[in-house]
Amino acid sequence: MRVLLVEDEVRLAETIRRGLVAEGFVVDFAHDGITGLEEALTSSYDVIVLDIMLPRLNGYDVCRRLRSANNWTPILMLTAKDGEYDQVDAFDLGADDYLTKPFSFVVLVARLRALVRRGAPERPARLQVGDLSLDPSTRVVERAGVEVSLTPREFGLLHFLMRHRGDVVSKNEILQSVWDLNYDGDDNVVEVYVGYLRRKIDQPFGRKAITTVRGAGYRLEGDGG
Ligand code: CA
Repeated sequence: MRVLLVEDEVRLAETIRRGLVAEGFVVDFAHDGITGLEEALTSSYDVIVLDIMLPRLNGYDVCRRLRSANNWTPILMLTAKDGEYDQVDAFDLGADDYLTKPFSFVVLVARLRALVRRGAPERPARLQVGDLSLDPSTRVVERAGVEVSLTPREFGLLHFLMRHRGDVVSKNEILQSVWDLNYDGDDNVVEVYVGYLRRKIDQPFGRKAITTVRGAGYRLEGDGG
């Protein structure tokens, strides 16, 4: 089994590498995101262990670019509790599994074996609502054929609304799915992000796909305008 380890903390990388080799893995490693991406694209790996906070290109972008290039090697993301991206984001970022640092080596090996057994992930279907499209695998969002750039949270919110197209979804449902089951902050954050989305996917195109349903929540429909 061939593993690509992308981790900038050299001592941690070396410890993981030595352990994996002892378990029978063949390990290549890269210490920054660009090198990791190039390695992943030019060689064939059974699984990739990818740190999120990396120099030159973060793990989130490495993951996104790999999927955009139609590379479906399973990815286990290493996250830090105080990182810029939290655990909840890891799946939304297109990773297949994640571990929060510090982690147990035994758990890492078990997760890697499970990922390799499972094989490359299925490419998820593209969602289309009117002339708005979202590809969960490449993370490309387009309105009328024009690519729209979204942050991970905006993308998560739009993905949720598109999966529930035509339905009224409450702020609470959105919070639980797009933020975190245990999110205990202000639910106005949903309103704020709906505003961000409207400014990106609706207003520039003269559309009103996301409607506010007073006292109930929000609804995304195919042909507002
Ligand atoms: Ca790091």
